[in-house]
Amino acid sequence: MRFDLITIFPEFFAGPLDHGIVRRAREAGIVQIHVQDLREFTKDRHKTVDDRPFGGGEGMVLKPEPLFDAVEKLLGQSMGTAAEKALPPAGSAVVLLSAAGKVFTQETARRFAKLERIVFLCGRYEGVDERVAEHLATDEISIGDYVLSGGELPAALILDAVTRLLPGALGNEASTENESFSESGEWQVASGEQENRNRLASMLDYPHYTRPADFRGWTVPEVLIGGHHAEVAKWRKQQAEQKTRRNRPDLMPEIL
Ligand code: SAM
Repeated sequence: MRFDLITIFPEFFAGPLDHGIVRRAREAGIVQIHVQDLREFTKDRHKTVDDRPFGGGEGMVLKPEPLFDAVEKLLGQSMGTAAEKALPPAGSAVVLLSAAGKVFTQETARRFAKLERIVFLCGRYEGVDERVAEHLATDEISIGDYVLSGGELPAALILDAVTRLLPGALGNEASTENESFSESGEWQVASGEQENRNRLASMLDYPHYTRPADFRGWTVPEVLIGGHHAEVAKWRKQQAEQKTRRNRPDLMPEIL
């Protein structure tokens, strides 16, 4: 899978993408990551990427031209005009990072992991000319209900979440199957109203423990030490449910 990160701060990505699973996925050729300097796609002497907002107001706004030019050059096709709009090639997405976008979830990560290519557009300043959201981006994505200074951290975060879902990215180290929000972590409600019977809840991960069994008097739950696999599985499911109810009641079906 190929990722392009379009940013006015290309140096930002030196570091965050050079460790752990993402580094190994790069080395194994599972992902290719290309950081693109937005200023390289400008046509004027000053390499201008921003301008004042129409209608007045604070700050500067990223201009549409360099962003359209960058995406078109990278994808090797025009993205069209108001008269005739064009979509990116099948298997590609153009993702605009935006606090005003749809909130990124594990489901979004799973959808993105099926693609061959994602181009990330990292905003800065007061944001990006709205025509980019409307006519260039296939997805306008927020990583949560707070405002950051730029789209670089959100892009790196999404890239990480998507990469670890790609076949081979985790090696033998771990599996994404039983993690928080995983599809197989979903469970069917066993009781309650008929119409709610098939509602699925996405549970958080169960608690993990490692050595020492006794740390400052805080001991590991007995059931994990007994070696009884069925009991361990039952306990983990109960704990996951309790934790989800406590930390993320919004994920639980109402009848529970
Ligand atoms: N004026 C914008 C607003 O109120 O929604 C905030 C702009 S923010 C200071 C600059 C850039 O940071 C945005 O264009 C976007 O790319 C990025 N950004 C900030 N918060 C984000 C979030 N929660 N998720 C994704 N990107 C975000």
